[in-house]
Amino acid sequence: EIEVRGLRKAFGDHEVLRGIDLEVARGEVVCVIGPSGSGKSTLLRCVNLLEEPTAGRVFVGGTEVTDPDVDIDAVRRRIGMVFQQFNLFPHVTVEENLTLPQRRVLGRDGEAAARVARENLERVGLLEKAAAYPAKLSGGQQQRVAIARALAMDPEVMLFDEPTSALDPELVGDVLAVMRGLAGDGMTMMVVTHEMSFAREVADRVVFMDGGRIVEEGPAEQVVGAPRQARTRDFLTRVL
Ligand code: ATP
Ligand code: MG
Repeated sequence: EIEVRGLRKAFGDHEVLRGIDLEVARGEVVCVIGPSGSGKSTLLRCVNLLEEPTAGRVFVGGTEVTDPDVDIDAVRRRIGMVFQQFNLFPHVTVEENLTLPQRRVLGRDGEAAARVARENLERVGLLEKAAAYPAKLSGGQQQRVAIARALAMDPEVMLFDEPTSALDPELVGDVLAVMRGLAGDGMTMMVVTHEMSFAREVADRVVFMDGGRIVEEGPAEQVVGAPRQARTRDFLTRVL
């Protein structure tokens, strides 16, 4: 579903991604781990062209997103992205946070958008907050709304960039539970995370990045449980 070939990204003369090759199959969950500055966010941002790669090719659902002639808005519509910061619209209700993008971007009518909004709020366990304003919600609830908002756009793949890093520890579990549910429903997911227990439990594959390269990748029980590379071991002893 996602295919990354020879991806490079430089900011000025700083090479942040130095040749990344990666595939995420349909329904697969891949967790990306690695030290700060290793290029994890830049990799995700290159997949939906929030950053323009310096070299290499990226495909999502068979469409080359790095093709200069691609309709980038059409590509982004197929990719849901959830960030560390939830970025909900503060001046409208939770339900409107879900309906407005559907109406604007997908052209859904109000009734259809409301139905999809409510289905997805239900999916993240927050239907009863439909009429609330985001500021009245906990950080964990806001992040679950942000996930529901992305899902309401019917994405083919979901990208998560440290979705629980800004949360108080007691709120992390609910967000991870929603993500676990999504994985169980067969969503194709690429997840940058420091939650090693989530990676071990949910990821089909774990990718360890360092210095803009993939140093090691494989099943979670191997990469997290029995890493082969010294750099992976060093990193894990620091985060576990
Ligand atoms: P973290 O775990 O801290 O989120 P990361 O692995 O996500 O780190 P990136 O955010 O991808 O790392 O950043 C990789 C490198 O690229 C860093 O050195 C960062 O300073 C640099 N970088 C990222 N975005 C830009 C930008 N827009 N302009 C210049 N340098 C950037
Ligand atoms: Mg990052």
